[in-house]
Amino acid sequence: MSIISAPRGTRDILPSESWKWSYIINQAALTMKDFGFSEIHLPIFEHTELFSRGVGETTDIVEKEMYTFNDRGGRSITLRPEATAGVMRAAIENNLCAQGSSARLWNWGPMFRHERPQKGRYRQFYQIDAECLGIANASADVDIISLSIELFRRLGLRNLEVVINSVGCEKCRPVYRKKLIEYFTAHKDSLCETCLARLDRNPLRILDCKNESCGRVADNAPDIYDSLCDECREHFAQVRLGLERLNFAYKINKRLVRGLDYYTKTAYEILSGDLGSQNAVAGGGRYDNLASAISSSKIPGVGFACGLDRVMLVMEEQGCSFGESPRVSVYAVAMDEASRGNIQTLAYELRKNNISCEYDLTGTKSFKAQMKASGSCRFACIIGSEERENNLVAIKDLNNSTQESIALSEAVNYLKTRL
Ligand code: AMP
Repeated sequence: MSIISAPRGTRDILPSESWKWSYIINQAALTMKDFGFSEIHLPIFEHTELFSRGVGETTDIVEKEMYTFNDRGGRSITLRPEATAGVMRAAIENNLCAQGSSARLWNWGPMFRHERPQKGRYRQFYQIDAECLGIANASADVDIISLSIELFRRLGLRNLEVVINSVGCEKCRPVYRKKLIEYFTAHKDSLCETCLARLDRNPLRILDCKNESCGRVADNAPDIYDSLCDECREHFAQVRLGLERLNFAYKINKRLVRGLDYYTKTAYEILSGDLGSQNAVAGGGRYDNLASAISSSKIPGVGFACGLDRVMLVMEEQGCSFGESPRVSVYAVAMDEASRGNIQTLAYELRKNNISCEYDLTGTKSFKAQMKASGSCRFACIIGSEERENNLVAIKDLNNSTQESIALSEAVNYLKTRL
């Protein structure tokens, strides 16, 4: 029978790698805690309209990248392509921002997009996501940006670039949109097919097209800063001031619009010089209209999502530390057949006391084979006939091969002081 492989664009995260993922998640959890964010767990699938209305009908995600299907009840369901819309839905449904209060929430998990797989781009990928809901003030934008920068600082990532922009709001964006349509229509001949199709529906997206010819046209496109309303202009100035106060280097890129419709005012990305074409390790911004796109509530918000797969790639590339690799503390060894039961009891006793322990589950390994298997552990705890008769255990330090005989009842205490 042919082997059933994992679907294209997905991969297994094997034990040789998974402990590094845990390290990143643990660092994220600590950073989130220091910034006052609480963890939220969300469904992996949602009603399709959450994304079509929230993320936007004309976005690449909704137009061509979602995993959408009808469930057995005939409802249209979508595997989440991103987390923000789900967090906002949960906040509205559970009244987390009632009476103008705010909520700072984070989560991590898999997202699904039907994109062409390449290095750093998968169909099932993982994001760490943080959202600050209910605060319209620019200090929340600064908080979110500094949270993502701090996470990367703790993980030891180098050569990062923070790029920011303002994409305006529902008051000033229509004016800018009109200017863009006029400008790009005059340069139609130089646009790629995708951008031609975007021209009337989503002209802002032409600004971040990767096609060279579109890029040249976009470089000379009208400047959004000339169209920003006073409120957006002031908000952007406050974000910049906040970042400067915290001594963060950043660049302004007027062509950064990001692929999701819900952004208002601040949009930002953190780029790595070590990733090739998929170079964004995190992206985010403000989305004051998302709540009203999916409900009758008005809740401002700002957040970011960091691509865990890409953070992993950069950390490996840059030789960053993942802390200590996991090592089982004890291998319990039976010298003879009669001791195998004693080993099982000892292993459970150690485990109950938070001392990690392994032993030969096949029950067939010779003493020599068990000693060999103990090689990756810190200690071997050995029981044979003499130990059984005298309620002892021989504890061998596998770092220096010294061995001591200890009363079985003292094994836990002894090992705790040595580990
Ligand atoms: P977005 O939700 O598109 O704003 O993306 C936020 C971050 O998620 C990006 O900066 C990437 O690090 C990561 N990301 C987005 N799409 C993918 C993908 N298909 N594969 C891997 N990482 C991704």
